[in-house]
Amino acid sequence: MHAGVGVGVTEAVSENTYDAIVIGAGPNGLVAANHLLDEGWSVLVLEEQPTVGGAVRSDSDVAPDYVHDTFSAFYPLAAASPTIRSFHLEEHGLRWVHAPAVVGHPRPDGSWAVLHRDRSVTARLMDEQHAGDGDAWLALCKDWDRIGDHIVHGLLAPFPPVKAGLGIAARLPSVGGLGFVQTLLSPATQVGRDRFGGEAPRLLIAGNAGHADISLDSAGSGLMGLLLVMMGQTVGFPVPEGGAGRLTQALARRIESLGGHIRCSTPVTRIDVESGRATAVRTADGDRIAAGRAVIADVVASKLYGGLVPDSDLPARTRRGMRRFQIDPSTVKVDWALDGPVPWASAPPYAAGTVHIADSVDQMSEALGQVAANAIPAEPFMLTGQMTTADPTRSPAGTEAMWAYTHVPQRATRDAGPDGLTGTWDRDELERFADRMQGRMETLAPGFGSRIVARRILGPRELEARDANLVGGAVNGGTSQLHQQLVFRPTPGLGRAETAVRGLFLGSASAHPGGGVHGACGMNAARAAVAHARLERVRRRRRG
Ligand SMILES: Cc1cc2nc3c(=O)[nH]c(=O)nc-3n(C[C@H](O)[C@H](O)[C@H](O)COP(=O)(O)OP(=O)(O)OC[C@H]3O[C@@H](n4cnc5c(N)ncnc54)[C@H](O)[C@@H]3O)c2cc1C
Repeated sequence: MHAGVGVGVTEAVSENTYDAIVIGAGPNGLVAANHLLDEGWSVLVLEEQPTVGGAVRSDSDVAPDYVHDTFSAFYPLAAASPTIRSFHLEEHGLRWVHAPAVVGHPRPDGSWAVLHRDRSVTARLMDEQHAGDGDAWLALCKDWDRIGDHIVHGLLAPFPPVKAGLGIAARLPSVGGLGFVQTLLSPATQVGRDRFGGEAPRLLIAGNAGHADISLDSAGSGLMGLLLVMMGQTVGFPVPEGGAGRLTQALARRIESLGGHIRCSTPVTRIDVESGRATAVRTADGDRIAAGRAVIADVVASKLYGGLVPDSDLPARTRRGMRRFQIDPSTVKVDWALDGPVPWASAPPYAAGTVHIADSVDQMSEALGQVAANAIPAEPFMLTGQMTTADPTRSPAGTEAMWAYTHVPQRATRDAGPDGLTGTWDRDELERFADRMQGRMETLAPGFGSRIVARRILGPRELEARDANLVGGAVNGGTSQLHQQLVFRPTPGLGRAETAVRGLFLGSASAHPGGGVHGACGMNAARAAVAHARLERVRRRRRG
């Protein structure tokens, strides 16, 4: 009776009522479904695409024998997530593997900034470039050892994170008290300047901060940069052996093993609301499926509110809040199948899975600033992945499955580069912008172009067609900037998964704590659904 998770077979589901219906089989939806099944609920997951996974999928469309991750690729947050760890996905086929080094950042002078999983190696490499930086790095790692787990748990817990908050408060004095808090709140550029003399740690912190759409000169970017580099020193940046999709397939297999149902190729078109309560969902093929206790929406906020739930079923405060909802920037992603390794002009001391491309912290800031100012970046800051380096099963021995992505404005008003791109992102613009991105690779790795067997470009439209949550190519379900985090995500409220509609819970990356594959949004929604169902049971009993 269950859908095949790998091929996404759609099967008829006999009963038409479930305790919970989960809309969307992205990592958050799948995590929510797993938790509800663990609680003994009956669960149906409805997914628009032909396969499960959302933005955690892989395919072989670029070239035969090459596995490319269609969207996301590296999973430090999943590896650190107490929720995902608690599912023991290795029993459902997941195997994490690591590249020799976590992150590499090549510089125009041929030197590399390298984050090795072994902190003493990272420190040695930093010290070779600037005496004293090694000790400063190890001191930072030591502080993180004392408090980092509490920070991670605090970020992933529902708001307010009382338990983790107490843990942080208890450990703060041992890491420098308010001084440490100030470090966390500082801009990434400032953290690097305050703590280190050389360029390597500054590049690593800023480059990791650049994974979110927070300006490197704004509060909050330092925390993002520190969080990711310190995860690199603790859990690493693992990838699922065989492709990103193996992670979500393992989540789906666990659902099947618990008796849950998944229907792929089934877009949900509407959530029925009766007397202020979500009671059922309607699918594009005309089914109405009742939800006895809850509907969990792994759906981007802007397509849930005023979309699946019409404005007429929403209170004015939600409609007002959504008018201010800010989506994050758009994205252009290029996948390459290479017939050899990337021919870096100078070889890194250790080969990295994730490679950041920017000549300097200043150039990175400039590129991100151009995107914020609605300009197509002249020299885009690129996140890239050498996937065969991380996982040799991704392509034949001696070759590389490689990708790069960069952000572009949702609505470009000019091209800061020389090509007069307008941001229509038709095929011609995508090809020319991909050439710009490839040009950056060619400068650092002469001969890169001659190794290309095949190239695929996914622009904003192509990304959204493969996952409706990626609105205009946005990767995080809404901006990660401070004004839309915590109690402001997705609209001012309590920062919790409950919505203005009873029985409807927001479980996508549009909810606190936002983007990234940690499953916390889905888990928070599932826990909230269980808590509310209990409360309602108690109330009913009291009423007699
Ligand atoms: C290019 C790219 C690179 C990224 N890199 C990383 C990375 O390396 N590491 C990391 O941790 N994170 C990364 N991210 C972010 C991460 O992938 C997302 O934050 C995460 O997938 C969000 O999970 P989700 O379940 O909320 O949504 P999604 O993964 O987007 O899944 C939502 C699902 O809901 C389905 N859906 C939506 N509407 C409906 C509907 N009406 N009916 C039925 N189904 C519906 C969609 O088809 C989709 O399957 C990246 C994202 C992108 C796009």
